[in-house]
Amino acid sequence: LARPHVATTATTCPYCGVGCGIRARANPDGTAQIEGDPQHPANHGRLCVKGSALGETTDLRGRLLHPMQRGVDGSLQRIGWDAALDHVAEGFGRVIARHGPDAVAFYVSGQLLTEDYYVVNKLAKGYLGTANIDTNSRLCMSSAVAGHKRAFGEDAVPGCYADLEQAELIVLVGANTAWCHPIVYQRIVKAKEGAAPPRMVVIDPRRTATCEIADLHLPLQPGTDVWLFNGLLAYLFQHGAVDASFVDAHTAGFAQALAAAQADAADPAEVARICGVQLADLLRFYDWFAQCARTVTLFSQGVNQSSSGTDKVNSIINCHLAGGRIGRPGMGPFSLTGQPNAMGGREVGGLANMLAAHMELDNPLHRQLVQSFWQSPRIAEHPGLKAMELFEAIGAGKVKAVWIMATNPVVSLPDADRVKQALARCEFVASSDVVTHTDTNAFAQILLPALAWGEKDGTVTNSERRISRQRAFLPIPGEARADWQIVCEVARRLGFAQGFCFESAHAIFAEHAQLTAWRNQPFSQDGAPAAPRLLNLRGLAQLDRAAYDAMPPLQWPIAADGGTERLFADGCFAHPDGRARFVATAARPPVHAADEAYPLVLNTGRVRDQWHTMTRTGKAPRLTGHVAEPFVDMHPHDALRCGVREGELARVHSRWGALVARVKHGGGILAGQVFVPIHWNDQFASDARVGSVVNPVADPVSGEPEFKHTPVCVEPF
Ligand code: SF4
Repeated sequence: LARPHVATTATTCPYCGVGCGIRARANPDGTAQIEGDPQHPANHGRLCVKGSALGETTDLRGRLLHPMQRGVDGSLQRIGWDAALDHVAEGFGRVIARHGPDAVAFYVSGQLLTEDYYVVNKLAKGYLGTANIDTNSRLCMSSAVAGHKRAFGEDAVPGCYADLEQAELIVLVGANTAWCHPIVYQRIVKAKEGAAPPRMVVIDPRRTATCEIADLHLPLQPGTDVWLFNGLLAYLFQHGAVDASFVDAHTAGFAQALAAAQADAADPAEVARICGVQLADLLRFYDWFAQCARTVTLFSQGVNQSSSGTDKVNSIINCHLAGGRIGRPGMGPFSLTGQPNAMGGREVGGLANMLAAHMELDNPLHRQLVQSFWQSPRIAEHPGLKAMELFEAIGAGKVKAVWIMATNPVVSLPDADRVKQALARCEFVASSDVVTHTDTNAFAQILLPALAWGEKDGTVTNSERRISRQRAFLPIPGEARADWQIVCEVARRLGFAQGFCFESAHAIFAEHAQLTAWRNQPFSQDGAPAAPRLLNLRGLAQLDRAAYDAMPPLQWPIAADGGTERLFADGCFAHPDGRARFVATAARPPVHAADEAYPLVLNTGRVRDQWHTMTRTGKAPRLTGHVAEPFVDMHPHDALRCGVREGELARVHSRWGALVARVKHGGGILAGQVFVPIHWNDQFASDARVGSVVNPVADPVSGEPEFKHTPVCVEPF
């Protein structure tokens, strides 16, 4: 298994949505030398501890190196690729023949490269004729997607990281950036050390590490964000801080949004009471926002992972539109993506309600356009099942075959024990993965070995719309194959050779880029003139292989003269009339309130040095040393009331499930709340999956689950 020495390769970090550039060199022992790429605009050579430790995680311990089939006794047997691919094609083909295309599904991942994502979406929507393909990006980003589409007409982040260095005010909402997007945080730290330091406000129920450099922390009650931002909109109007000329010229719906905001939140004292913050602090934030034209509002999972996540996003965007704080340097609402390619997946239609190139499944013109470009036999006719619905349908026996790629839903979905039960009764489960043993793979009948980071080749898109190349610098281990290759082989076996004869990631990217540019002209469902799609890679549509290999990081839209730093500079948005939309957001509390039986509110999230279910970061001692085991962080008063003590094991349970973790204090948690990290699973410790405790509730618009608010109780173990 020793690997030969190869030259330094420019690639991209596989962890968070910051999308840092890396220079990597393989060592003969399977490890790698890693350093930040000084040429990459996202990080200018900096790396956080996770990115720096990548070289310690590339060995082959635990790797799935050969196709495997589960025998009747439950054991895994090695089989050949042809047999494995035949099994998958036969399993899907059999179910479709008996029950129709909506009886099969794919559940994929923001860890896939854009090219992988493109091919599997093409197979599902254009060839099998089902939109039952959803992604774990549903769990982190779909509220931002829905909010962008409602406000701008398309899923697009307006600004760029460079805006952080030009802002007067940086507001972070539901984002522990110091731990979860560390290089963005370092850019803010550097800006604060500069000649014109921006003010910084952190809005988060917890006093996280991000608060260390904040000028103001608003520890709002979980789920009250819409009240806070509706209150801000009402305040801006009352204090003459609405840019009437911008609102009149470039937006629609202001009066309705303002009326909704005033109905909820006209009185700052009442807003402060509902949000649980000091009135003076609330007014200081409102005043700073009103005074600072150059304001960037960064938001992440604390906003998105909510039963009102889409409204939270739009309540933030409303405030930016009201002041015209968008499209110019140093300003704009800014969604921080969780995964390395959550954005790229969305670009090729990686959500069950989307088509490739940011087109809409429920728009017949878009369906016709994509089908005619693909020359595919059919096109899915209605949006498919979103992540939680998809596994409910598996449990109900409506979806009978599922192919899971690069993700671990038995750990990561809410009500995760139900996901286990669903997979246990599913007629056919295939899993493409880089590791053999995961909580999800235990239910797969066929395991397909995929290439890992360092071995695969393609592109990812980060939070600022920047497409970067991930390049291979390690040899292919065992019989692993690229995800797109595996999908193409199955497609051919299902009789779809014509659409899946790609020979390289470059060929797929070229087709994707051509589709974004193809007939990208004004039209809308009712035939009225419309703005062209923003996701346009026209400048990359004719790239040859050498140019693709050498492609520098670029922000879309990409024309012949290069990428685009900021969107909407001309005040023209992607709705058919070119206007942005205010959205009336009526505030509402989380679906399940704490009560006598479950008096505490569970919040979940990442820790600094771990990533997802730890299949990679769990290998590096310097990462596992930061936080060695699962914990429940709680206020000392709550611990006393619950009869548990710091350092002891406790059981955290909700109406849906339970976990066991060690009690900890000092994580900045307020009384009435507890925090449990998302990473641990049954491969590392038994009863450690926080997903089994989380309530199965989702935002009605985006389908994103409410990971930040589950009533629980804590008791001695
Ligand atoms: Fe990787 Fe994110 Fe760290 Fe950058 S900030 S090195 S992308 S984990």
